[in-house]
Amino acid sequence: MSKNAEIYEESKLYSPGGVHTSIRNVNPMKVFTKGEGAYIYDAEGNKYIDYQGAFGPIILGHSHPYVNGKVIEAIQRTDLYGVGCTDLEVELARKICKHVPSSEQVLFCNSGSEATYHAIRLSRAVTGRSKLIKFQGCYHGWHDYVARNMLSAWDMIGKRDPGSAGMMDEAIDNTLVCTFNDLDDVERTFRENKGQIASLIVEPIPHNIGCVMPQPGFLEGLRELCSAHGALLIFDEVITGFRHDIGGFQKVAGVTPDLTTMGKAMANGYPIAAVAGKREYMQRFNTYPGGDVWFAGTYNGHAVGTAASIATLELMENEPVHEHIFRLGEKMRSGIRGIHERLGIEAYVAGFGSVWTTYFMTSEPKNYSDLQQNDAELYVAYRKKLIEKGIFKMPMNIKRNHISYSHTDQDIDTTLEIIESVLKELI
Ligand code: PLP
Repeated sequence: MSKNAEIYEESKLYSPGGVHTSIRNVNPMKVFTKGEGAYIYDAEGNKYIDYQGAFGPIILGHSHPYVNGKVIEAIQRTDLYGVGCTDLEVELARKICKHVPSSEQVLFCNSGSEATYHAIRLSRAVTGRSKLIKFQGCYHGWHDYVARNMLSAWDMIGKRDPGSAGMMDEAIDNTLVCTFNDLDDVERTFRENKGQIASLIVEPIPHNIGCVMPQPGFLEGLRELCSAHGALLIFDEVITGFRHDIGGFQKVAGVTPDLTTMGKAMANGYPIAAVAGKREYMQRFNTYPGGDVWFAGTYNGHAVGTAASIATLELMENEPVHEHIFRLGEKMRSGIRGIHERLGIEAYVAGFGSVWTTYFMTSEPKNYSDLQQNDAELYVAYRKKLIEKGIFKMPMNIKRNHISYSHTDQDIDTTLEIIESVLKELI
């Protein structure tokens, strides 16, 4: 039995399925023992150029020395108190409020799911309404408010599709599902639920289905509809935040939501997340005297996450992080397009900044439903072959790739060579 398989077999004895988050199982199973810069290593010493990036957090590179150094420095002097506030929390909050347009005030928690939960509950308190709009294919975490109509089976698109057993019927039914890039659908939903919609939550780029870009005017249209109907607009920037700009995709798009949720690239892989927004709304949280919306968490603002996030944002402020990852992203996308042309492959290379994916379909997808045209079998086979040759991205349909500040031109050249050889084998 291989070393990877041996450790995995033992993991399954102690933990259901041997992994600690759904969809972490890969076939064949990998056990990772080391991550350094752009590379990850499995238990047998195999080295991979990593584009999984832990589903997005790794924006600077694995075990980044600057971030790790700042974390070690912090935890040698401080950790967690459960009362008062810390100097690290203040420093991080100042940075976020400086850079993220919608962030007049910010609160820290530990995961993106917590952040979206808090934002939605806040929107209900502010508006006195119950309903929420989300988009088919978008993911906002594991809780009952949002865990429906994520990667739905094709015949369940737009239908009542809870993502888990055990969810509350009321939560499922108060979450309405619209089609991304379809403002008419959103407008109709607001009209049919007049005075009942508390908020609309959206990934400004739905990266949970790869990279489906908002069409010109779509995000602006959402802003207008939410304002017109007295609902709060929530940008879930858990993936896009800090990755596409230190101010989030809202800075790039020039559209300012009422509330923003952030996580992932915020701390280069250390656990911390945030909910931010207008002061008048944020002061409804009961961290503020008289606030009536519960906000709590034993580990909120822990020194590990706050120090890591400060260090990550410092590097973004002081080094050409985004310039580098955007340039390499463009190099990757145009390189892949060139390969497709040479080999006569009709495929759509999608992406923004440091994120890219190849859809095996001919036209640009505008929403989840369009992705039915993607050849899922080829997509997964392609990913599996890339892993065999040392390019790691989870072999799962329509998931995206991420470039980090540690990737080099040489990494992209090597990846392109391997992509070409894999595509030659597959077609
Ligand atoms: N929002 C988005 C856009 C996400 O992609 C995710 C996780 O993938 C979440 C929220 C939930 O974040 P977490 O897994 O940290 O709870």
